[in-house]
Amino acid sequence: MKHLITPNDLTNEEIEELFEDAKLFKDLKSNNLLDGKIVVTLFFESSTRTRSSFEIAAKRLGADVVNLEVNTSSTNKGETVEDTVANLNAMKPDAIIIRHKDCGLPESLKSYVDCPIINAGDGKNAHPTQALLDLFTIDEHYNGDIEGKNIAIVGDIANSRVATSNLELLPRFGLNPILVAPKRFKVTSSFKTVSNIKDVIDDLDIIMSLRVQHERHEITASPEKQAKQKEKYIKKYCITKKLMGNRDILLLHPGPVNRNIDISDEMLLDPRSKVLKQVENGVAIRMAVLKKFILQKSE
Ligand code: ASP
Repeated sequence: MKHLITPNDLTNEEIEELFEDAKLFKDLKSNNLLDGKIVVTLFFESSTRTRSSFEIAAKRLGADVVNLEVNTSSTNKGETVEDTVANLNAMKPDAIIIRHKDCGLPESLKSYVDCPIINAGDGKNAHPTQALLDLFTIDEHYNGDIEGKNIAIVGDIANSRVATSNLELLPRFGLNPILVAPKRFKVTSSFKTVSNIKDVIDDLDIIMSLRVQHERHEITASPEKQAKQKEKYIKKYCITKKLMGNRDILLLHPGPVNRNIDISDEMLLDPRSKVLKQVENGVAIRMAVLKKFILQKSE
């Protein structure tokens, strides 16, 4: 049984096949490839895009979707996530899509199920379908000519599963990540890392802006210090028209965007911003993922 926990669960060849399917699914018309299948979603962390995108993807393929409301589920009565998942598995679903704040939890659930687990985000560890849809959007924008393109990943890299999964995936397809972050959001890495985006802006083909992951921070600073930090952050890391100038740079963001902190209102309206294209592509990619993992031959 194959599960999708990180992008490394897929070979480059499998990713290319997924992209071929996603291109066909881009018309977003419904079909009945997963007729009679049941997909369970289990989201222990907030989500707008990922959960609805998976749900729409499953329904477009003809599957039924059961969204477990975790706030009213038995985990609230003291049941462990492992037991919840084992009980759901006993009802014979065809896939379980899970998001949880604990890094590594989806991986640890593999032994409790007979169906694929699809990781929809575990803490700062991984978000494979986001990285796939990001790569797909880049590939589509450059008509497949992505080898050697420079991509700045900007913001809270240390706490972002989107960054982790993209840093795992993008170099496999020849992209060069450059990390742009203040000291507190940096990670130890072999990739070029800078504090000031202006130092690299002229070399960039793509910018991936990230949200500051407040939910993963331990707040120790006073409210005054936090306000100052925020002001400083905006000055240096908010992607504005002034910073972009006329440069031909593709601008991405996984959402949710914190307007005028991550990206300015004006840049969100600029045609170089492909944030909604990412969301559109997300459904096609998740259709391809669900098709592949649910229809996999048993090993
Ligand atoms: N939606 C993405 C995630 O779940 C990015 C974010 O929340 O900032 O990781």
